[in-house]
Amino acid sequence: MSGPRVVVVGAGFAGAATALHLARAGARVVVLEREAMAGIHATSQNAGMLRTAIADPALARVAVAGARGVELARAWTDVPLVRPSGSLLLARGGPARRELEAVTPELSALRSTVRWLEPREAAARVPVLRDGAFDAALWSPDDGVVDSAEYFAALVRGARAHGAQLRLGVEVLGGDPGDDSRPARLDTPAGPLEADAVVIAGGAWSDVVAERLQVRRLGIVPYRRHLHATGPLATVDPSWPFVWAVDDEVYFRPESGGLLLSPCDQEPFAPCEPPADPANRELLARKVAVAFPGLIDLPIMRSWAGLRSFVPDHRFVLGRDPVARRVFWAAGLGGHGVTSAWEVGRIVAGAVLGTAPPPPEFAPGR
Ligand SMILES: Cc1cc2nc3c(=O)[nH]c(=O)nc-3n(C[C@H](O)[C@H](O)[C@H](O)COP(=O)(O)OP(=O)(O)OC[C@H]3O[C@@H](n4cnc5c(N)ncnc54)[C@H](O)[C@@H]3O)c2cc1C
Repeated sequence: MSGPRVVVVGAGFAGAATALHLARAGARVVVLEREAMAGIHATSQNAGMLRTAIADPALARVAVAGARGVELARAWTDVPLVRPSGSLLLARGGPARRELEAVTPELSALRSTVRWLEPREAAARVPVLRDGAFDAALWSPDDGVVDSAEYFAALVRGARAHGAQLRLGVEVLGGDPGDDSRPARLDTPAGPLEADAVVIAGGAWSDVVAERLQVRRLGIVPYRRHLHATGPLATVDPSWPFVWAVDDEVYFRPESGGLLLSPCDQEPFAPCEPPADPANRELLARKVAVAFPGLIDLPIMRSWAGLRSFVPDHRFVLGRDPVARRVFWAAGLGGHGVTSAWEVGRIVAGAVLGTAPPPPEFAPGR
């Protein structure tokens, strides 16, 4: 291979998808992952929902393309990756509904028709919504639930099949971003590595990685969010869509005969393996009582937390660093990194190889 030498820092969804697209296009790719296993942070702590009904049209476009990409990843797995459940976004007449209404025509143009349902139509699909506090529900038939562990494994397999190397237990501790006359350098306990281009795909640690490479931070802030799983519940039909009450910010979906739920908490948190706070179950119970009165007194069996990382405008950070010309970002994927991974990788690989300019709304220097 004679393509550019690219080092991707971080083996989560962002790093794996970027490595896959780069390696397919002929780059010589090395992925460095600090942990002994790939994908153990946000990439394995999420709810696995393929949600394309997003109020921000820029994010919705990437999510739609990303959701299509999940099917392309079937090339590297024998396991079906998606349960095509659809999604229901419940809204009252406030700003959340107006934002979703504004993006509905664009979503319908990109996917099969999304449409607004009356509460009784929504309850016909998910009977526990019968007494819910909502006026309308946005039905997105193409949304679904992805086996995110298997999807991530397929991306890694695909990247390796195209020649990318994954080096586990190798932390980037320092380095130099290089310039037009010299390559970038990454310092690791295994020795230094030179690269024609570096991709920062460090999730919650992306700004830490940047600083270690002497690149300016972009203000990426991790926020902790909890998920809670019940045991099996007789009332749950595993074919239900995922249901998200957008005004109250609480969601649920079927999982292993019971439900997986989140009260959509978002608390700024230092990059780490975040502990679950037992008090979060009370927040969940309060929100469920308001939004889904048909689901009170749920027997929660397991709770955990993960970090979602954002810059202030909540759009992704994809493409070339504004100052360090050899450094590229695949970061700030917030709560949409599973859905969008394929397209994120395609966009960042195009920016690194100079084959396609990334959408300016995601530019790191915006
Ligand atoms: C509770 C929760 C629910 C979610 N639900 C959904 C959902 O339903 N649908 C959806 O689309 N998205 C969801 N998400 C978001 C999604 O999980 C993330 O956007 C995505 O996993 C981010 O991937 P990443 O690769 O950017 O980060 P990560 O998975 O965190 O990967 C970054 C990697 O970089 C490595 N790293 C960091 N520093 C270094 C270093 N110095 N050297 C080497 N390696 C380093 C880390 O060890 C880590 O493995 C959810 C997230 C959370 C927390």
